[in-house]
Amino acid sequence: MERKNVWNSYDEKQLESLESLAKDYRAFLDAGKTERECVTEAVRLAKAAGCRNLEDVIAAGETLKAGDRVYAVNMKKTLALFTVGRESMENGMRILGAHIDSPRLDLKQNPLYEDTELAFLDTHYYGGIKKYQWVAVPLALHGVVAKKDGTVVEITVGEKEDDPVVCIPDLLVHLAAKQMEKKAGEVIGGDDLNVLVGSHPLKDSGDKELKDAVAAYVMDVLRQQYGMEEEDFLSAEIEVVPAGKARDCGLDRSMVLAYGQDDRVCAYTSLAAFLNTEPQDKTCCCLLVDKEEIGSVGATGMDSAFFENTVAELMNCLGCYSELALRRALKNSKMLSSDVSAAYDPNYDSHFEKKNTAYFGRGMVLNKYTGHRGKVGSSDANAEYVAEIRRIFDERGVAFQTAEMGKVDVGGGGTIAFISAFYGMDVIDSGVALLSMHAPMEIASKADIYEAVKGYEAFLREA
Ligand code: MN
Ligand code: MN
Repeated sequence: MERKNVWNSYDEKQLESLESLAKDYRAFLDAGKTERECVTEAVRLAKAAGCRNLEDVIAAGETLKAGDRVYAVNMKKTLALFTVGRESMENGMRILGAHIDSPRLDLKQNPLYEDTELAFLDTHYYGGIKKYQWVAVPLALHGVVAKKDGTVVEITVGEKEDDPVVCIPDLLVHLAAKQMEKKAGEVIGGDDLNVLVGSHPLKDSGDKELKDAVAAYVMDVLRQQYGMEEEDFLSAEIEVVPAGKARDCGLDRSMVLAYGQDDRVCAYTSLAAFLNTEPQDKTCCCLLVDKEEIGSVGATGMDSAFFENTVAELMNCLGCYSELALRRALKNSKMLSSDVSAAYDPNYDSHFEKKNTAYFGRGMVLNKYTGHRGKVGSSDANAEYVAEIRRIFDERGVAFQTAEMGKVDVGGGGTIAFISAFYGMDVIDSGVALLSMHAPMEIASKADIYEAVKGYEAFLREA
């Protein structure tokens, strides 16, 4: 039951559209290095494709009809998009879901300090990371500072050609004999992830000697560029992410190397497929959520009422809302809950079970279940639903493979699937395989990205 490598099945035209998709994808990754930036960029693309803000529709008291396209944003970090179908909402929707938060370092609320004439920003890491991977690499700052006067200032440092970058220094190897004996998980501790941001003391401005003059210089820069005071860090969300753009990877340019592909590779391909798809019988939906990497909790995670409330609002605008109709719409829906899979890496072969592993170039990945060690925490898709998806992909010529995340007792991970499954809808985990998942730079196959868009479109049209 080995699945074929899909590369040599493409003709010239297909290779052209594969490359142009990869280019658009890289541009999306560069524009969206935080969940807020991803929402902004996705809304820009959605508006260009004719989507309107559902809030405006509600405010104007308008009625929606088949073919209308709307979107709803939750706290600037979660996005739901809909194309109204020709059938009643009660018949269910076709939903593509993915997450747009990625592992990173978040600045603490009191981040700035000076030690021995060096200024640092203290961080608390977000999501599962190998902490030692985040030292001695160029980093950028992305985020917002919300001020007491209600203004919100956007901050991006480290992406433009002439921008400075920041960095977490590592201990030189010459003095690291003891450090090198430590377990990998302990080499760099969570509280060692301090970002170096300055070394130039501010000049004394008169009589009294300036304390922490280097940190003062850094604050002076922030004051001048962003009009912020040190206290404004209290109401800021600033993420420290790898600096630099997404790149083609490999001498054959067959892959993409970039930060944040978990899960923006599924988010972008889902969004692209949604926007490409003309109105169908069923209402189509694309859902991009936050906080998956830390358990989908909170107001902007999948485990909030945002999606359910938004569907209720949509149904109200369609004149078909009732509590029961909403329950039916959710129950009768079908969903591809998309997240990245582990791609087989021959350098770490003992961690994979070869028959049930995803491979680069073999297309979209279906995970009937996720979870780990006895399927704990998994959302297990119904066999009948898996059969339907197989049929659709085969009929539409979508290359796909099935996989588990690593060997049974090795580990595993969760996704948002179980949360939508709560409504009784059909959900299966699907997505794109990555090498170096959760590393500062992750790798995806362009062929798999291309097949993902094909797969999502096939699902929206045929499921
Ligand atoms: Mn993920
Ligand atoms: Mn992840």
